[in-house]
Amino acid sequence: MTNSFAIETENLWRIYQTRQGAEGGIPALRGVSFRVPVGQVVALKGRSGSGKTTLLNCLAGLDRPTSGTVRVLGHDLSQMSDDELTVWRREQIGLVFQSFGLLPTLSAYENIELLLRIKGDDYQTRHKRALECLELVGMSRWRDHRPYEMSGGQQQRVAIARALANHAQLIMADEPTGELDSKTAGEILTFFRNLVENEKITMLMVSHDPLVDQHVHQVFMLKDGNLE
Ligand code: ADP
Ligand code: MG
Repeated sequence: MTNSFAIETENLWRIYQTRQGAEGGIPALRGVSFRVPVGQVVALKGRSGSGKTTLLNCLAGLDRPTSGTVRVLGHDLSQMSDDELTVWRREQIGLVFQSFGLLPTLSAYENIELLLRIKGDDYQTRHKRALECLELVGMSRWRDHRPYEMSGGQQQRVAIARALANHAQLIMADEPTGELDSKTAGEILTFFRNLVENEKITMLMVSHDPLVDQHVHQVFMLKDGNLE
């Protein structure tokens, strides 16, 4: 990719229309412009309600901004249909959530393999990549275990392995350490930093954990829907 920014937004607004019809709706994002260079780990911080999840959803093409532009990995998301966004997300983006989002009835291996099956990879490719990703996060020995048999930190590692499985160029994580104790959170953050540097990818992490500051290249602060 020739573009040196993984993420670029310009004057991004997202106004939620409410059923009660609060006059003009709720402006969750109010003109956000920012850029994330390829190869960085950045944190997006701010108090609860400041618009972090809304911004992440707009960047992942899960939500449409009311106005403004979003370019992610060289794509102008407003030019893409919902179907195109679904395929694009599956092929280029890795998403990690606070609550891990693993399917409880599937093993670590199966959680990853399923994603690749949905993507349409053949069996050999899926098998090889699922094992590779488990290895990358240090969870090979846990391949046949289900989420409830693992600690929170281990589940988050599997969720990260799953996010990486499609060779994502950009990982976006919403409060990835939110449910972890500080020691485990520190390990996950160190892992993220090394991963981005070794794999030459980009990572945007939404957090309000003070611990993240020392692990990232930049911190963006959201306040009332705008960057400080
Ligand atoms: P954060 O992730 O920083 O806690 P959010 O992006 O979830 O913040 O929310 C930002 C603002 O938008 C808050 O005032 C929230 O109540 C409002 N909001 C979020 N989602 C919706 C929605 N679906 N409908 C209406 N208002 C919403
Ligand atoms: Mg949130």
